[in-house]
Amino acid sequence: MEVLANLEQKNVMHWFEFVCSYPHGSLKEEKLAAAIMDFARSKGLECKEDAWHNVLVRKPASPGYEDKAPVLLQAHIDMIWAKEKGVDFDFETQGLNLYIDGDKVRARGTTLGADDGIGAAFMLAVLDDDTLEHPPIEAVFTTAEEIGMVGAIHFDKSQLTAKRMINFDAGGFTEGRIYVGCAGIMRAMIRQQAERVPFSPAGHQPVQIVVGGLKGGHPGGDVGKGRGNATQMMGRILRQLLAMEGVEVSHAESADFSQDNKYSMPIDARILACAKDAAAVTAAMASLQATLRDELSDVDEGVTITVTQTGEVPAQVLSRSTVETMTRIVALLPNGVQSMQRLFPDTPECSATACRVEWEGDTVIYYSSIRSCKDSLLTEMGVKYQTIAALNGCEAELSDPLPGWDYDKNSHIRQLVEAEYVREFGREPRFKVTHAGTECSQFKKDLPDLDIISMGPIIYEEHTPKEYLGIESVGVLWTFLKNILRQL
Ligand SMILES: [Zn+2]
Repeated sequence: MEVLANLEQKNVMHWFEFVCSYPHGSLKEEKLAAAIMDFARSKGLECKEDAWHNVLVRKPASPGYEDKAPVLLQAHIDMIWAKEKGVDFDFETQGLNLYIDGDKVRARGTTLGADDGIGAAFMLAVLDDDTLEHPPIEAVFTTAEEIGMVGAIHFDKSQLTAKRMINFDAGGFTEGRIYVGCAGIMRAMIRQQAERVPFSPAGHQPVQIVVGGLKGGHPGGDVGKGRGNATQMMGRILRQLLAMEGVEVSHAESADFSQDNKYSMPIDARILACAKDAAAVTAAMASLQATLRDELSDVDEGVTITVTQTGEVPAQVLSRSTVETMTRIVALLPNGVQSMQRLFPDTPECSATACRVEWEGDTVIYYSSIRSCKDSLLTEMGVKYQTIAALNGCEAELSDPLPGWDYDKNSHIRQLVEAEYVREFGREPRFKVTHAGTECSQFKKDLPDLDIISMGPIIYEEHTPKEYLGIESVGVLWTFLKNILRQL
């Protein structure tokens, strides 16, 4: 029994329910991919599935559109699996329990996967509806986007002939948000060889210093908010400890200890030290906490630095020069917005986040995440990390950048969408360049001439069990999409 069958927006919602009826977590998309293949075959459409379960379906032009350049429609079919505590639900085997809540579709106790199941639903609706007018269509359903765009990276783009692309992995179309660019991402690692020296305590007490209470956030979406960074705080604490008499440091690390992700915003730090005057350390940290709360008032004033006496005095501590090098590296690590976009003033053009600092044996590793829509700025930022490393006798390692999708001021599809938006809604859309990474850049990298736009209906709270899809916005975008396809 279809839950969404009676909605006015049923031509798209039927296909959303179809998507939701199959398990489709990242790297668990094979059942849904097979169902899409079966549907395409039943419609007599040319279709192909690759080893990553990416699916390509071609639909011929409608009569009169045979000479038009093909258009690529694209969405990812994997979703984040998250459920509320205590909910008995098996994502591996069950379809989602959809329900209607006013103007929203939700899934009972779980993520909805409207990110980006609704994108796939729009594409399936286009493939299914033989009354539409459109150029030849190449529909690409990608996999494993949520774990690093794995499907899009591996998909063979040389088989595509499209010159224009509509990506559906975006929210907020009816609120005017339409995307015309995204950030590229590079990762940097600096490795420092640490030195330990024997320690003979002379009345030292072991103490543990812990930084907590920070909000954290997403290195893309939250980078401009000025929130506290535990790695930077760790560096400041080490500098203070170095300046004090009779203090030795045996360990220092930072991370978001609640997750494995090495490139999340660090909100926790832990420093182990031995002090002749533990009370002086406690006083210094209380003073630093007050300074930080003042600096971070209104954004992250809940920051705490706590000092506790711990059990054992270690037999070795870090050499003074090791701790000095740590403070220099942390002080130099870029953190925050590096430059803003001129055309899109509320969006960073380039940013960096000092991420986790962790240990592998006697090696300290400093992780950083760098974002920019301009690949050349990623390259420039890479030079900074290499320089920081070289100045401190360390090594830097840079990842191959995930490319950015830069704003194209001559984009024909953007101009078309803008004119249609004004015609239909009587107001200008707010074009945006997101500071997140998207699959669009993977297609742009291999097909540089591709003219891209990215839009999707109202989706909020994605990646959480509170996720919902705005019902009315689906119908509005469907009407709009049909009008755009007709003009391509
Ligand atoms: Zn998505």
